[in-house]
Amino acid sequence: MNDGPLVCAAVALIPAAGLLASYPRRTWAAAAVLPAAAAAGAVLSAWGGGGAAAWICSGWALLGGVYGLLLCRRSRSEQAARVEELARTRDRRESVARELAQVRAAGQRTEREHKETLALYGMIKGFSEALSWEEMRPKLELAASQFLGVTDFALYVAGDKGALQRLSARNLDNSPGGSWATWERYLQEHGLKLSEAHLLESPERALAVPIHDSEELVGYFYARLPQDQEPATVMSKARTFAAETALAFRRVKLFQEMEQLSQIDGLTGVFRRGTFDEKVREEAVRARTFKTTFSLLMLDIDHFKSLNDRYGHPFGDQVLRRIGEILKASVYETDFVARYGGEEFVVLMPRAESEGVLRKAESIRRAISGERFALATETIPVTASIGVAHFPRDAATTEDLVAKADSALYQAKSQGRDRVVCYAAARRPAGQ
Ligand code: GH3
Ligand code: MG
Ligand code: MG
Repeated sequence: MNDGPLVCAAVALIPAAGLLASYPRRTWAAAAVLPAAAAAGAVLSAWGGGGAAAWICSGWALLGGVYGLLLCRRSRSEQAARVEELARTRDRRESVARELAQVRAAGQRTEREHKETLALYGMIKGFSEALSWEEMRPKLELAASQFLGVTDFALYVAGDKGALQRLSARNLDNSPGGSWATWERYLQEHGLKLSEAHLLESPERALAVPIHDSEELVGYFYARLPQDQEPATVMSKARTFAAETALAFRRVKLFQEMEQLSQIDGLTGVFRRGTFDEKVREEAVRARTFKTTFSLLMLDIDHFKSLNDRYGHPFGDQVLRRIGEILKASVYETDFVARYGGEEFVVLMPRAESEGVLRKAESIRRAISGERFALATETIPVTASIGVAHFPRDAATTEDLVAKADSALYQAKSQGRDRVVCYAAARRPAGQ
């Protein structure tokens, strides 16, 4: 049994070889070392290797076991490290997701602010272009919906005597803010001050903001709040809206005052009614003094209200402007064109004979009905009716002359519009 120790050593290497071979699957391999070494020791003892072989096997078993245990510990600490790493990765992912959400929210905020800035810019620009209440109304309505995001609202404006009148109202039929009378009553009943802004919870979520120019109350804004709107946010925007509206109201009033002082009508570029009143009186004095005549044409656009209603006030204004131009271009330098009222014009023709005046009136009527009034791609037909009266043949005073021209105009309307009627001819019995 001389080769016994060598065989023992070779056999004892088996667990170590197994251990090395099974290295990647550490835990169970380590656990397998002890029984394998014990089994090898037992086999050697039984085979007769003696004490040395048993010692070698036991040594190997001890080393293998310790090594296995070390490996197990290392494996456990590696697992813990991996778990930690995983947790760190998850934390990192969560924090990246949080950052992403913040960036996205900031992006949305910026986009919202950008939109609000644009709406504010649009509102200020729109207001600055309006020079009459008619022009102001659609701009205010647009600003209320685009800048404030409200669809149900009313806007009141202080008249000359300070009383508030409704300029615009939308969808407020059963609301306390729907008319000035109901709103004043509501304020009184609830002990609320007219000069302060209010947020209402009942009978509806709404806000009410007075519009002040310095200390003076020049208007009032009432709006029902949509469910998704934060009251404080809308209120802060409504204050900006009120401040801009106050400026716009002041501009319109100043323009109106300036217009009162001016002889020319701002919209149509022809003379104003006041200037006509003076001019017609002067002309009557001249005609009486020099025994001459003059004629008066009174022109009224047909169905103008429905033109406004169908195509909007800006289109109506465009028609008025163009008719002012046609009239100025159609008459002599010595003739006088004025805007008499909303859509009524007058033309004074000194020393003109009646047949020539009728021909002129007819050519004006044709020029208007032949004009192409374009709105986008559409061409909208516009006609006018004209009444003609002569001084002193039809009237002895200027007031009467205007009344006679108006009466001829009325007849032109009742005969079907788009025509010229001469007062004297209309009075003449048929056949004469
Ligand atoms: P008719 O053929 O009988 O004359 O009918 P009409 O609709 O023209 O007559 P009515 O007098 O009822 O309407 C006049 C309209 O003119 C009412 C008003 O809204 C409009 N209007 C008056 N001034 C202005 C203005 O400065 N701009 C605009 N766009 N419309 C005006
Ligand atoms: Mg009219
Ligand atoms: Mg008319």
